[in-house]
Amino acid sequence: MAVHVDFSAITAGATWQNVQCEKCKKHYHYPLVREAKASVRAAYGIRQGAAEERAAKTAQYKLMKLLEQGVEIVPCPSCGWVQQDMIREARRRTARWLIYLAALCFIAGLALAMYPLGELLSVTDPEVTPAEKTRAIVGLLIGTGAAVALLIVRRMLQSTVNPNSHYPKPPEPIPGMPAGIPGKAPRELLGRTTATDVSRRVGVDGGLLP
Ligand SMILES: [Zn+2]
Repeated sequence: MAVHVDFSAITAGATWQNVQCEKCKKHYHYPLVREAKASVRAAYGIRQGAAEERAAKTAQYKLMKLLEQGVEIVPCPSCGWVQQDMIREARRRTARWLIYLAALCFIAGLALAMYPLGELLSVTDPEVTPAEKTRAIVGLLIGTGAAVALLIVRRMLQSTVNPNSHYPKPPEPIPGMPAGIPGKAPRELLGRTTATDVSRRVGVDGGLLP
């Protein structure tokens, strides 16, 4: 009976992000909050201490990267300008579901193409009919074509994202985004605050113990 122990670490942290406006050159800052997860398995339940530590360390490292590179879409409180990296971020967040849909189409096409191949491998006297061949090729073409089309649609949607289109009128408020605070972030608060929590789960033969 194989027993394993999974350690899942979740860590959250916050920091100030300092910005200098590209337009009016004034400084402002906003709070950046991020969360990171990591999971490490101690196979057969051995070296649990190391696995627990590695889960925590990995999550903390991921969080550090997220806080370092994190961008929110926060217009300048003085003039309303949204900075270039924020526009990039807004575009990155646009219609992300289309990526998953495109991947799904591609996989479906691939599956259709693989079907006659599977038949060749599994049947003792394999014979792929021309109809099956056509279906495989058409399936692959449609799947790939749909995937490419969806990604192009996403590109088009992304290119319409421009929070500065009404500048100098302030942009529409973006739900869930923090407000910019004029000036540089206070020094004593620039340090990062983080908290990590590691949970332990015991499993047997792929299943979980009650
Ligand atoms: Zn500004």
